[in-house]
Amino acid sequence: MAEIERESDQLPQDTTCQPTAASDGYANLSELEKEQILDLQQTILRSLLHDRSAQEIADDLCRMAERLLPNAAASVMLYDDKRKKLDVMAAPNISPVVREQLSDLRPGPGAGSCGNVLFQKIPIFVNDIPHDARWQDLRHLAETYHLKSCWSVPIYRTDNQIVGTFALSSFEYRSPSDFHKKLLETGASIIGIALLRQQHMARQRLNAQIFQNSGESIIITDVHQRFVSINPTFTRTFGFTEQEVMGQTPKLLKSGHHDSNFYQKMWRRLQQTGYWQDEIWNRTKDGTIKPFLAGISVVRDEHNAITHYIAVYSDISHLKQAQAQVEFLAWHDALTRLPNRPLTKNRAELSLLAAHDNKTRLAFLLLDIDHFKHINDSMGHPQGDALIVETALRLRTCLADRDILGRQGGDEFLIVSPLTHDDERLPELLETIHRQMQIPFQIGDTHIAVNVSIGAAVYPNDGENFDALLKAADIALYRAKEGGRNTWRFYSEQMHTEAQQHIELSNGLRQGLSLQQFYLQYQPQIDLVTGQLIGVEALLRWEHPVLGNIPPGHFIPIAEDNGTIVQIGAWVLHEACRQAAAWQHEGLAGCRMAVNLSAVQFSHGNLIATVEHALKTSGLPASLLELELTESILMRNAEQILDTVRQLKHLGIQLSIDDFGTGYSSLSYLKRFKVDKLKIDQSFVNSMTQNGGDIAIVRAIIQMAKGLDLKTIAEGVETQGQLSQLKTEHCDEIQGYYISRPLMPDQVLRWHQQFRLDPPF
Ligand code: C2E
Ligand code: CA
Ligand code: CA
Repeated sequence: MAEIERESDQLPQDTTCQPTAASDGYANLSELEKEQILDLQQTILRSLLHDRSAQEIADDLCRMAERLLPNAAASVMLYDDKRKKLDVMAAPNISPVVREQLSDLRPGPGAGSCGNVLFQKIPIFVNDIPHDARWQDLRHLAETYHLKSCWSVPIYRTDNQIVGTFALSSFEYRSPSDFHKKLLETGASIIGIALLRQQHMARQRLNAQIFQNSGESIIITDVHQRFVSINPTFTRTFGFTEQEVMGQTPKLLKSGHHDSNFYQKMWRRLQQTGYWQDEIWNRTKDGTIKPFLAGISVVRDEHNAITHYIAVYSDISHLKQAQAQVEFLAWHDALTRLPNRPLTKNRAELSLLAAHDNKTRLAFLLLDIDHFKHINDSMGHPQGDALIVETALRLRTCLADRDILGRQGGDEFLIVSPLTHDDERLPELLETIHRQMQIPFQIGDTHIAVNVSIGAAVYPNDGENFDALLKAADIALYRAKEGGRNTWRFYSEQMHTEAQQHIELSNGLRQGLSLQQFYLQYQPQIDLVTGQLIGVEALLRWEHPVLGNIPPGHFIPIAEDNGTIVQIGAWVLHEACRQAAAWQHEGLAGCRMAVNLSAVQFSHGNLIATVEHALKTSGLPASLLELELTESILMRNAEQILDTVRQLKHLGIQLSIDDFGTGYSSLSYLKRFKVDKLKIDQSFVNSMTQNGGDIAIVRAIIQMAKGLDLKTIAEGVETQGQLSQLKTEHCDEIQGYYISRPLMPDQVLRWHQQFRLDPPF
């Protein structure tokens, strides 16, 4: 049945002209005809494999078809879907003039065989052009070129859309045989394949172009994530060449910025959806770590198995930088680049939390340039701005790293400074800022002298939270302005007085030595067994011209703070050694001199040289000098301390541990430092006869010292009861008001004569 229908100029609608699909059409062909068709097929398909273009293949096909049908011309026309017109693609034996006339053919009922193929969507076999209505519109053309018959078949795309025609036009009247139909059908099918392939290749070329020229880094890996291909942008961005990445996996780019969870999520998403996108930090060859927007796609084959991964990275560093810049400006003052008001508050609140947890103090200093408006108006705003910037820079130099400095607006700055409990730094800090700000600023060519006023409030004394403390600092600032400007004020009266005194003492200490305001008193130390004077402890005194006698417990921490303890301590050593040496010839032969040392003397100044010098100039034998160290000194930077202690021992000096039991009381350092004596702190001596007589601690210290072959001296002995108890416990020596208060040098000799005559035990 099918054969009969095909006889009547018609191919079944669903015929796609695929060579294989039409294999049944071979039945009525002779062996020679079959061979000829197959030969044509093979020749053309082979040339396809050799990458010949669709144009070349169409030309070849036409020539071969013409060889199989003499007295005819073959042509391939393509349908332009947009223009709705047919154009000649190949017609190697039709003159350019005719091709010209055939082009731009609009499909229609009278548009010849090819026009009708498109119009009717079936093969059209016209055997008698002059009398066929389907050639109505092209009749003059047929007449001019003596065309008598024309057979045309559709060229299909894979989706059954007609994309063109393949035609044989004869210069004689003839109707197609099965062989001719097969020839047309096969030719059309081959052209279809060639066109499809051309389209593919064009797309591939485009893809390759995109790959090569993309501004984004592209990586293709195999299913095992090994690099297969990278594009030039990848090399430019990451620094790796193709040879360098081959055989590697993208782990090469790992920055360490993401945890395993990040990668697990990525793989899960890839498995589920075939695509993943996110920001990722990658490492380039030179070690730079950069942010990228990454997209990874999975490539699968026709069996849905993964064959490749394609990863595309866009460098977003500049974006991030811009973002960071925006963020920075949101939290910083554009002029000084200091934290602005909200950020200062944030940071201060964090410091407040820390101070709360550690039970430490926090200072809020509000600073304002006196008469800034006047300066600004007279010098101009740009100069005013420059002054603000310089002020910020100079303030920063006065501060420690942990201190917060923010601009509150205008010429107002806020400083938030953490203080430890016994930190005496604050008054000094205020003085430093005050002093520093008085050095004239150079703005352009002019020098400007400014004054500042500072208001200080302290957490927790003056407020619990940021707002309360800022307000307190503001009130203090107001008082500073009221008090004549160019000064600082504390919110609390008491603190202000204390701070002022601190500054007064601090400044006084600097002059005290040259003005000879220091002197030493000496407190005797007694051997508990023999009842003999064995030494004295030198105790520093300061006679302040205005404030009178200031206790060492008060001024020594300030001297340690401002560093004057180094010179003062050296003076003490010299004076004490000089006195001890003198006493050797005045009836106190063998009397040892104990001198207190501060931790600051250990870390600053050349202690060994100072001690050697004091011994040398005084002529005191080293064995008669004893240095009192505190446990905290020995617990510090152990190696450096160990070295200094070793050198002191080497000189033949005695070492004792002052206030023993109040510090770390670690046995290990006693062994390491080879000290000679422990001074049992007076608080233990005191509690020994109180609280129902708790002697346990004193007993433990004495026993431990005996075990380590160290001597013990109890200080702060005030009563006969304490004395006898210490004797019972076999304490070696005592010192305290019960024996004698600290004495002036001449009093010591008199006291000694009296003591020998009438010892208290
Ligand atoms: P410290 O070394 O523990 O000195 C003993 C302190 O206890 C002295 O106070 C002394 O006067 C006092 N004292 C002595 N016997 C008794 C007593 O029976 N009862 C009571 N309640 N107190 C007694 P001072 O002279 O006020 O010295 C205080 C601290 O100042 C010293 O404590 C020492 O740490 C330091 N110091 C004194 N002179 C110097 C010095 O030249 N250099 C250094 N770095 N520190 C010194
Ligand atoms: Ca002492
Ligand atoms: Ca002591």
